[in-house]
Formats: sequence, C-alpha cells, structure tokens
Amino acid sequence: MVTALALAQRGFRVTVFEAEPEANPAPRASTTHSATLELLATLGLTDEVIRRGLMARTFQFRDRASGELIAEFDHAALKEETPFPFAVQFEQHKLARLAGERLRAFPGAEVHVCASVTGVDAREDGVSVAVETQQGIKRFEGAFLVGADGGRSTVRKQLGIEFEGYTWPERFVVLTTPFDFEGDRGYCFRNYLSDPDEWANLFKVRGDDDKGAWRVVFPTRAEETDESVLSEEGAQSLLQPFFPKATPYRVIHRNLYKVHQRVAQTFRKGRVLLAGDAAHVNNPIGGLGLNCGIHDAVELAQRLERYCGGASDDELDLYDRRRRPVNIEFVQSQTVQNKKRMEEKDPLVRAANFAEMRAIAGDPARHREFLLRSSLIASVRKAASIT
Ligand SMILES: Cc1cc2nc3c(=O)[nH]c(=O)nc-3n(C[C@H](O)[C@H](O)[C@H](O)COP(=O)(O)OP(=O)(O)OC[C@H]3O[C@@H](n4cnc5c(N)ncnc54)[C@H](O)[C@@H]3O)c2cc1C
Repeated sequence: MVTALALAQRGFRVTVFEAEPEANPAPRASTTHSATLELLATLGLTDEVIRRGLMARTFQFRDRASGELIAEFDHAALKEETPFPFAVQFEQHKLARLAGERLRAFPGAEVHVCASVTGVDAREDGVSVAVETQQGIKRFEGAFLVGADGGRSTVRKQLGIEFEGYTWPERFVVLTTPFDFEGDRGYCFRNYLSDPDEWANLFKVRGDDDKGAWRVVFPTRAEETDESVLSEEGAQSLLQPFFPKATPYRVIHRNLYKVHQRVAQTFRKGRVLLAGDAAHVNNPIGGLGLNCGIHDAVELAQRLERYCGGASDDELDLYDRRRRPVNIEFVQSQTVQNKKRMEEKDPLVRAANFAEMRAIAGDPARHREFLLRSSLIASVRKAASIT
C-alpha cells in the first residue's frame, strides 16, 4: 500500500492486488523508526502516524536474571540529525489501512481485494499477471510489476529468484495482553530482556480500542508443539516466570511465527521489482523489517519516476544496487547481532556484551552512533551515497 501510494503521488496509475479481504491485523511490525518517519513524511503520512501512535523516545536493554537495567538509549541524542528524534509505536495494519485510504483518493488507483496473483508473464515491453478473483481468473496488464507480496512472494518465485539465507530452528511466539507493564512495573514502551535460556521483547501499542496493549515476544522451546505454545497454560507458563503476578494474565491475542534471515538474489528482473518481505526477511528483534520495506517503497517510486522521465535503464538497476546491500549491511547484520545479544549462553561473552552496551550508552558519541544505525538513518545515508 505504501509503494502504491508513493507511485500514485508521482502520477502513476497503480493497481493493487491483495489476496486477503483487508490488511491482516495479526500483531507484527509496530516500531516506526526516525528514518522511516522522515520518508513517510514525504508521503504525507507521518502526522497521522504520530497522532494515532505512541511516541517511544527511549528503549531499554535488561538482564532478565538480575532484572538489572543494562543500557537505556534515548533518541533525543538524534535531535541534530532528524526532525523525528523518537520512534513511534504504530501497528502495521493501521499503516496499511491509512495508506490504502489515501491511495483510493487517486483517480488512477485501483485496489482489488480477495485477488491473489497466481501467474506472472514478464516481457521486455510490459508485464501481465493472472489473478484469482471471486469471479474466476482474470488477466491484467501493466508496464511494471512490483512484488510486495511478503516472504512467500509468488512474484519472486514466478521469476525464479533465489531467496538466499536460512531459517532459525526456533519460532517466535507473540502474546498480547492489556496488563499495564508501565504503570505496574515501570517498563518503557520498547524493552529487550536478555537471557541465555529464554529472552523476551516487550512493547506497547495503542491496540484497536486505543486503551493500550502490550506485546511480548518469546522464542519457543525446541520440544514444544504449536498447540502447547498457544494454549492458555502455555501462555501463562511463558509470561509468569518473566513477570510474576498473583493472578493469570489476560491474553487477548497469541501468534506463532517462523523466523528467517533471507535476501533475494536480486531485487530487479526486467520490469519486475521486489520490495519489502518479498525481497528480504529478518528476525524482528530491533523492529527493522517493515521499516526497510518502506524505504524500498520510496526508493522504488523515485527510481521508476526517473526512468519514466527519460533516465536510462540503469536507473532501475540502481534500485537493486542501493537497497540490496543496505539490507544486508544494516538489517540482516543488526538483527542477527541483536538476537545473539538476547540469547548469548556463554557467561563471559554475556558479561562482555553487557559491558559493551553500558559503555556505548554511557558515551555520548557512541550512543548517537548506535542510534543512527538502529533508527536506520545511517542506512538511508549509505543508500544515497551509492550511485
Ligand atoms: C512478531 C513480529 C514483529 C515484527 N515487528 C516489526 C517491527 O516492530 N518493525 C518492523 O519494521 N518490522 C517488524 N516485523 C516485520 C514486518 O512485520 C514485516 O517486515 C512486514 O510485514 C513486511 O511487510 P510486507 O508488506 O512486505 O509483507 P506482508 O506484511 O507479508 O504483506 C504482504 C501482503 O501481500 C499479500 N499477498 C501475498 N501473496 C499474494 C498474492 N499472491 N497475491 C496478492 N496478494 C498477496 C498478503 O495477503 C499481504 O497482505 C515484525 C515481524 C514479526 C513476525
């Protein structure tokens, strides 16, 4: 939806095919970083994201066993770097709906829901797709095709583009509860709790009723079945050891995800471009996946605009030249490093990691440097330097 909106705002006629009836509200991305707020501002979305989201100026890194606060990072350190020195907690389905509403206002934009792309025929002069609709299979023709169809991308598979990387053996479970971890326990809106056996990430979002909901992400234990992880007993047995409480937690949503680190071999093949999870997937620690997808969307729209304005074919290759290495250098590497920090088993390495985090947080220059990377500002600057 963000890609389509970025294209429509540049005068392209855009047709969106979405397999589902609407944006999936299952809890996934919620953290929108400074660099992404800057890009969403160019699409006119940031004011609404800030108004409807939760501003998260800080995030904390803790040792679960001792409960000790190891490091706190404060985006105020970025006030000279960005007009948005904070992250905003805003659920991804709300962003998709917001972008979709804005998109539908363009006369040249069409959104087909319950419309699943099943076939791609990419030629030198255009692309046609076969779409399964409630009225049967239909064919649509366009000048370009953007595969923004998620990690299992049909478009990527149809083009035979390798999705290089690996899948982690454990899965991640997300439990959502209205329990007030801020008022009751003093947690901020983004928390990373490291533990050699079972770490957790804890975040606040506004939720659908705007009353506030907390999402807790845990790794699954190897021997556990889906049923036991997702059962009421399974949920309490994850939450209680971390955050003991006399009464059971009210769990309003639970979900289980496979976790991957993969990058498509190329983000462009002829007139077909890949964006978002179709092009790259990563573990969610650090909240970078959707952010990076939004960066793809804006870059892609800029490149297509220039190409259609008369620039050479290299303009489309530049999309791949910029976005692919930046994903590897900033998103894949940071999320793998974040996961290692959360789960490190060797007590000496854990102690060294904690000492390093304390040192970074305590040194203003390193604190700023760390936030430039974690908020993806450094990645945008790096991408812009690639010609
Ligand atoms: C637990 C968890 C927490 C996360 N937290 C964060 C976070 O805080 N910040 C962050 O940046 N990222 C986060 N992520 C990652 C983020 O959710 C993904 O990167 C993001 O969803 C990618 O968006 P996308 O639009 O590329 O793909 P998707 O969200 O997968 O959307 C793809 C869309 O394409 C549709 N589709 C699929 N196939 C077809 C087809 N053949 N035809 C038509 N339509 C099709 C699907 O129905 C879907 O609507 C998290 C992920 C998880 C699992």
